[in-house]
Amino acid sequence: MLPPIFDVHVHLTRSVAQERVVFPRPDYPDDWRWANEERVSAHLTDEPIEAIVAVNYIVLPDMFDQRRRRDPQASEQEIWDDLRSRARDFNSWILELHGREPRVVPFVCCDIGTWRDTDSLMEELERCIGLGAKGVKMHPGLGRYFPADPRMFPLYARLEEAGLPILSDTGSLRGGPGDEVYGMPDQFIPVFERFPRLSFIMAHMPSAYWDQRLRIAREHPQVLFDTAGGFSEQQFRARDGYRACALEDAARIIRQIGVERVLFGSDAPGHDQRPQIHQLLRAGLTDAELEQVLAANTRALLSPV
Ligand SMILES: [Zn+2]
Repeated sequence: MLPPIFDVHVHLTRSVAQERVVFPRPDYPDDWRWANEERVSAHLTDEPIEAIVAVNYIVLPDMFDQRRRRDPQASEQEIWDDLRSRARDFNSWILELHGREPRVVPFVCCDIGTWRDTDSLMEELERCIGLGAKGVKMHPGLGRYFPADPRMFPLYARLEEAGLPILSDTGSLRGGPGDEVYGMPDQFIPVFERFPRLSFIMAHMPSAYWDQRLRIAREHPQVLFDTAGGFSEQQFRARDGYRACALEDAARIIRQIGVERVLFGSDAPGHDQRPQIHQLLRAGLTDAELEQVLAANTRALLSPV
């Protein structure tokens, strides 16, 4: 019997067919795909998982490049307008899905990489807050910006004021200009200094640069960490592979950060959920610590859901 699970990091699509396109995994049978509207309710009931946060992100800069390659004559403005209306639909869909399935908690795609100028970004943020968004997802690597980009400051300020959390990808996914890496944890420090009451979840705690996250945990008490991507061990390919923290060190590092600040997340469907739950069960945490990491910390953060 599994203890209660609240997965703070899932990417949801509309259908099995869409999941297959967005998260292609060779040799992964469709029967196993659950991170979509068609199957998610059955999965939550069968596993059983008490709830998930849908940290949905749509990668507009990549989509723009693809369109440009297909149609070099098209006007840039028209392409962006079209892509942003798709992003708006995507946010509306996950917000509506929460009405049909309250166990799916919606975080919306709102960052400067998607909306490109602060006015459009803030307009979309207000629209989503009005429709019941429970938080925001940002992705510096895929959005191609640094987290301390001042164009993001009004968003951080508004979330801080509203008491809404933001979850960001962190780690090595996509470099930046020169040797810089957009999502390297140290790049977030100016944000933590400027917005000390913002409830900020740094995703992928065990992945590359985990040493930087330990220092951030010490110096910035408002920062939370999710475990998405898992810990490194022989039979499991963690996010960032051999650069990820080993499972043998997981309990020690979770305690060093503070057990109440670590949230279970899977990053499904890109990474499998069940093996990551079982990793934590084998990590050497006490039952009380497990209960906190697997569900209670996220429940407390989001309540009343
Ligand atoms: Zn993710």
